[in-house]
Amino acid sequence: MGLLLKVFIPLLGLALAFYFYSAPKDFSEEMLRGKRVIVTGASSGIGEQMAYHLARMEAHLLLTARTEAKLQKVVARCLELGAASAYYVSGSMENTTFAETVVKEAENTWGGLDMLILNHLGESYFNYFNGDVNHVRKLLEINFLSFVAMTASALPMLKESEGNIVVVSSVAGKIGSPFTAPYSATKFALDGFYSSLRHEFIIEKVNVSITLCILGYINTENAVRMVSHAIKDTPAPKEQCALEIIKSGALRQRELYYPPWKVGSLVLLRAIAPNFIDSLMMSGYNVENIRRT
Ligand code: NAP
Repeated sequence: MGLLLKVFIPLLGLALAFYFYSAPKDFSEEMLRGKRVIVTGASSGIGEQMAYHLARMEAHLLLTARTEAKLQKVVARCLELGAASAYYVSGSMENTTFAETVVKEAENTWGGLDMLILNHLGESYFNYFNGDVNHVRKLLEINFLSFVAMTASALPMLKESEGNIVVVSSVAGKIGSPFTAPYSATKFALDGFYSSLRHEFIIEKVNVSITLCILGYINTENAVRMVSHAIKDTPAPKEQCALEIIKSGALRQRELYYPPWKVGSLVLLRAIAPNFIDSLMMSGYNVENIRRT
């Protein structure tokens, strides 16, 4: 086991890094110039960084999250950085009507849409499952149903533009890990829904790409505050992560693994050696730092 961890995994990681990083070589920032893009969860973290990258690429932006004051600052920064235009709509994705309103706003403002980046996530806890079913239901509304509602509303415009749907998910949406049961359920649901939808697009020759982004631990303020006491790993930079998400969407990749070697090797090994991956995952946690609440 020790030799496997020291030699095999880094080698596998290198091979995967080469494979996953060699794909986005033909990306050019021009691909986003003048494109009409919705970014959800854009008031902080990875969503905020995606907004800044897209602004530098001179895209038109419609940003959304709950906190108006933060969105105002992000929009102002986007305009300074060179966005072709930047607007925001504030509200909570607990309500699918709000999710649809955001897409309607894009239609009214631009008359079309090129890229839908679904990135927001509702607050949850990092601890043993506490039996609260209502919390799971609420999280499904925010992390899953609002994604579906926005996709359904945006689809006519995306078909017209032959655009992109980018779905931000997590390793927790591919591999079970402890202390994230409600969150993990919502992320697995995304994989099921969008993988099925992708098949239907192929059957019906709908030229809209779906990119599922499987992210590892990223250094956003909220993630670090929530899990740094329990996760031994060092988080990857949110700025780079945000850029890779945009590239993978523009290049119509099926899935993005970021950081590529860590996440890619975990996902691959999960398929061939699930028990080994379970013990590897457990070794990455300071379980003694988790106090039941
Ligand atoms: P974050 O910094 O906590 O940002 C979350 C965003 O969602 C904020 O803009 C927040 O703004 C918004 N939001 C929260 N509740 C909302 C609600 N009810 N309605 C609408 N918007 C809401 O998160 P992040 O770390 O950047 O994560 C972004 C994405 O990456 C998520 O899908 C997450 O699952 C995924 N991911 C992150 C990591 C990581 O380690 N960071 C790892 C794997 C996957 P307001 O509070 O203003 O509403």
